[in-house]
Amino acid sequence: MTSKHTQTAVNSLVLLVEDEEALRLFIGDSLRNEGYAVEHASDGHEALEKAARLPVDLIILDIMLPRRNGFEVCRELRAAGRLTPVLMLTARSQVEDTVKGLKIGADDYVTKPFNMGELMARVAALLRRAPASGAPQPHIFRFGSIRVDLLGTEVTRNGKVVNLSAREFQLLRFFIEHRGETLSRDVLLRDVWGYGAKIQTRTVDMRVASLRQQLEDDPKQPQFILTVQGLGYKFRPEVLDATQARDQQQ
Ligand code: CA
Repeated sequence: MTSKHTQTAVNSLVLLVEDEEALRLFIGDSLRNEGYAVEHASDGHEALEKAARLPVDLIILDIMLPRRNGFEVCRELRAAGRLTPVLMLTARSQVEDTVKGLKIGADDYVTKPFNMGELMARVAALLRRAPASGAPQPHIFRFGSIRVDLLGTEVTRNGKVVNLSAREFQLLRFFIEHRGETLSRDVLLRDVWGYGAKIQTRTVDMRVASLRQQLEDDPKQPQFILTVQGLGYKFRPEVLDATQARDQQQ
């Protein structure tokens, strides 16, 4: 098959939350061209209402919105236990917003003005890694002295908070979600950094080294994130312990 449309894309419903009508139409057309079904919301209140009522697979969420802003919408979704992937649209001048968005549970972000190809690639990447809808997924993982709360976006080591950067957190989450798989640098660049990112594969090695430094007892003899010589990296699945319920976390 030569079509770039994946099976996932054809069946996915995207909720597009954007108050600028021209941009909403433009993004909506592109999504439909990629084979997605699209629902619109033009303010935060409508976004929450549709997210609760419709079987949404992914939400594209602008930050500056009437009624409830994108942060409030995202926080409220996560507080209600909804794990629907959220891709935030943020102005380039609001880089701090990006980190804030990721901390309250957004999965990824694209800065305005954006390249439509990059936005579509990030949508596809998020849908590829999204859990099958319906089944509750574990969100608390332990390995060694590390505890990772994917929903609360918090990582602790021996009970003390580890301050990962937003990108490091996304990388760790991707490793955990794909534990046991050998992940090439190209796959990590595509799915964690996003297509179109102007970075080198060396960046992946640097971020992995930084993760090891912060998580491994002996970064030179990693036990969690292994190097697969000539191919990439792999998270050892057997070190991982997953929990679903928040109240089992202690
Ligand atoms: Ca806006």
